[in-house]
Amino acid sequence: MEFVFPDTTEFPALLVPKEPSPENSVGITTTVPIEIIFASGHVPVDLNNIFITDDEPLWLVEKAEDAGLPRNNCAWIKGLFSATKKLNIKKVLGVIEGDCSNTHALMEVLGEGGVDVIPFKYPYGRDRTLLRAQLSGLAGALGTDMEKAEAVKGELDRVRAHVHEIDRLTCEESKVTGEENHIWNVSTSDMMGNVELFEEKAKAFVEEARERIPVRHTVRLGYIGIPPICGGIYDFLEGLGVHVVFNEIQRQFSMPYKTDDLAEQYSRYTYPYDAHGRLEDIACEVKRRNIHGIIHYVQSFCFRNIFDTVFRKGLDVPILTLECDRPGGVDGQMRTRIEAFVEMLRKRG
Ligand code: SF4
Repeated sequence: MEFVFPDTTEFPALLVPKEPSPENSVGITTTVPIEIIFASGHVPVDLNNIFITDDEPLWLVEKAEDAGLPRNNCAWIKGLFSATKKLNIKKVLGVIEGDCSNTHALMEVLGEGGVDVIPFKYPYGRDRTLLRAQLSGLAGALGTDMEKAEAVKGELDRVRAHVHEIDRLTCEESKVTGEENHIWNVSTSDMMGNVELFEEKAKAFVEEARERIPVRHTVRLGYIGIPPICGGIYDFLEGLGVHVVFNEIQRQFSMPYKTDDLAEQYSRYTYPYDAHGRLEDIACEVKRRNIHGIIHYVQSFCFRNIFDTVFRKGLDVPILTLECDRPGGVDGQMRTRIEAFVEMLRKRG
C-alpha cells in the first residue's frame, strides 16, 4: 500500500492533531495513558478514529486483506493496520495485556514492518503496584517522567470535565443526542491530539447545548459494548423516538471518576479489565439514568461477544444484542430487530 501522511485539512474536523507528522505521532489502538504521551511531547493519534472517520473505511479494511490479514478476523484490526500505513505512523503504543490477542498479533505484524512498537500492559486484577511500574516504564520509553505526566493529568482532568458535562446534558437534560455524546466521549481517547483546541470546542459545544430544547423521546436506551463499526445506528434510533442516554465504553474513555493520580485513574477505567467491573458500572448507570433497555453491540470475531451472557444474567433490563462485521450502514435485518425491540420497550412503559 502506498500512503502518505495527509495534510492537517484532510483530518476529520474533530481529530486534527497538532502539527501532525509521522515522526511526532504515537499511534494508539485503544485508550491508553495519553497524559504520558503528551508529557513526552508526542501527539497521540487514535487509529480507530482515523479509520472509522475515513471517507472509505471499507476500502481500508479491504486493503488490509489485500496485504494478507484474514477475512475472518475483526475488521477494526484491519482498519487499524491500514490507518497506521495511511498515516505512515512510525511509533505505535501496543496494549499487550488488557486488550485482545488480535491487537497483540497486529503489533507483531506492524513491528515486522518497521514500526516502533512500545508495549503497555493493564495488569490483570487492577494491581496498582504493577500498573505504576507499567506507567513509569512507558514514561521512560517515551523519554519523560511521571511527575510531568501527573501534571498533564491535572490539565486533562479540567478538559474532561467539559465532556462529563456533555454527558450530564445528555442524560439529565436531554439536550445532547446520543450520537453527539458518542462522538465527544470517543474523542477523549486522543483529544484530537490538541488539548487546547479540544477544550475550546468542548466549551463552545456545552454553551450551545445548554440553550437547546430537550430531545423529544419515548424510550431511554443504553448502548454498551465497543463503539459500532457501522454508521447510522444513532440516527435510526432517534427516528424511532429513542434517546440514547448512556454510551458505556465511550464514557469510560473520558475517565468519568474523580481520581488522585494516574494509577488510580487507569485502574478504575473498566474496559481493559474483567467483565464484572463493567457490569457493576453498567448496572449503576442503568438505575441512575432511568434506562428502559440496552443495545449490546458486539463486533464479529471479537472475544468480547462472550460477555453478552454476563450482561444478560446481571442486568434486569431487556437487552438487544447487535452484531456487525464491516463498516457500512444499518441493514434491513438490524432495522427490523431494533424496531421490534423499541416497540416492546414502549409497550412495557
Ligand atoms: S473489537 Fe474485539 S477483536 Fe476487534 S480490536 Fe476490539 S477487542 Fe480486539
